[in-house]
Formats: sequence, C-alpha cells, structure tokens
Amino acid sequence: MLKLFTPTWLKERFSDIPVSFFVKHNIKTIFTDLDNTLISPKNPNATQELTKWINEMKEAGIQVVLVSNNKSSRIEKVAKQVEVPFVYPALKPFHKGLEQAMSVVKCPKEQIVMMGDQLMTDVLGGTTFGLKTILVKPLDKNDGLGTRINRVFEKMILKALYGKNLAMLWEVKSND
Ligand SMILES: [Mg+2]
Repeated sequence: MLKLFTPTWLKERFSDIPVSFFVKHNIKTIFTDLDNTLISPKNPNATQELTKWINEMKEAGIQVVLVSNNKSSRIEKVAKQVEVPFVYPALKPFHKGLEQAMSVVKCPKEQIVMMGDQLMTDVLGGTTFGLKTILVKPLDKNDGLGTRINRVFEKMILKALYGKNLAMLWEVKSND
C-alpha cells in the first residue's frame, strides 16, 4: 500500500532538476502539476525561472505537459505563456487527465515521469498509472482547503516512509 505513495525521486525544487537527470534516467516526457510545483498558487503568471527551465527541456527534446487538477483558466494562461500542452481538470489521482496527456505525447510510459508536490494526487496518480514520479517540496505554504486535508495524510505517509525527521527530508533525499 505504501508503495503506491512512494515517489521514485524526491527533489526540492523543479528548477534544481537539470536536463542531465532526465537523460540519465531515459525520461523523454515530463507530466507536471502546476500549483505549488512550478509556480505558487498565488501567482497568475509563469516566472522567469519556469520559462528558462521549460526552454532547457524543450531544447533537449524533452516534452513537458501541464497536468493540473485546477479547473480555472489559469492553467491555460500559463501553458500558453510557456508554450506547452495542458490538461485540466485532470482529476488526479484518477487517470482521466493522465490518459489525455498520453494521447498528446505518444511516448511509452517507461519514459514518462509525473512530477508534483502532492503524494495524494500527483504521486498516487502517477504510480497507479504506471509512471515514475518525482515529489517536489511545495513552493508555497498556502494551500486550498482540499489540499490542506490531503496534507494531513501526506505528513503521516511521509513519516512512515522516511522516518521522523521530515525537516531534513529534502536535503537528505534529494540526491540521485
Ligand atoms: Mg500542486
């Protein structure tokens, strides 16, 4: 059971993950959450940091698709700013959005990673769909109500997976 919630990799911040990491692990496509993974939920626009990172991925031939549970038009706005395909509402951990994203990229599952800041949606959805997963540290402490409830369970699961020292989680486990 815990296995379904275990990310393949832990990374502190998306922009810390270089092209070479994905090349090393033969990842050709990144499905990624938006809120608290790539930008703060409070931010309506792509940041310079995000645009730079996405451009580096594109130049290396790595596809990026936004797969978000958010249903607001902000997903479309940010996706257009950084010029990547998008899917919403994805209903993670269910597979609707992931199926849709698969039809956009035409890439085998073994070469796709699902990246996000939540165990209960991004990691669980990715794992049960047969993808590798990256859990990142949430960019912002503020979450919506649904996410705050998920965070309670998330904390319990992270403790079970990695021990009590959660404060150290990102420093200790981020290397690979
Ligand atoms: Mg998120």
